[in-house]
Amino acid sequence: MAGEPRADCLFCKIVAGEVPATIVKESEAALAFRDINPQAPTHVLVIPRAHYPDAASLATAAPELAAEVLRLAGDIAADEKIVDPGYRVVFNTGPGAGQTVFHAHAHVLGGRGLEWPPG
Ligand code: IMP
Repeated sequence: MAGEPRADCLFCKIVAGEVPATIVKESEAALAFRDINPQAPTHVLVIPRAHYPDAASLATAAPELAAEVLRLAGDIAADEKIVDPGYRVVFNTGPGAGQTVFHAHAHVLGGRGLEWPPG
């Protein structure tokens, strides 16, 4: 069922405390932790605690939860002092776009120059 934890999902295991993570911020419905393989000085992942496979399915099924993930991403940027000059929030969606974990997550990247278009 949509939103239910999945036994085969790495990020559901982080939510459950079964896999360790460096948690930087949390709310009742969402969790933010440092990426294990950072691509920038700040690289934090923000996830809904509930399981949705990608950002679009999250936004369709639970729009307020999608908004909470984005709000937390903005809080992270402020905490990490990357709002100025700027930061990036990325939802890789689908294997062709680099999605490897199929539990919706926002990458919050900053602390270095970010090129456009991304690779
Ligand atoms: P995706 O490739 O957009 O799906 O992003 C998945 C991200 O999860 C990658 O940037 C990985 O480095 C990161 N990742 C994988 N395993 C862990 C972990 O155990 N803790 C924190 N980040 C992880």
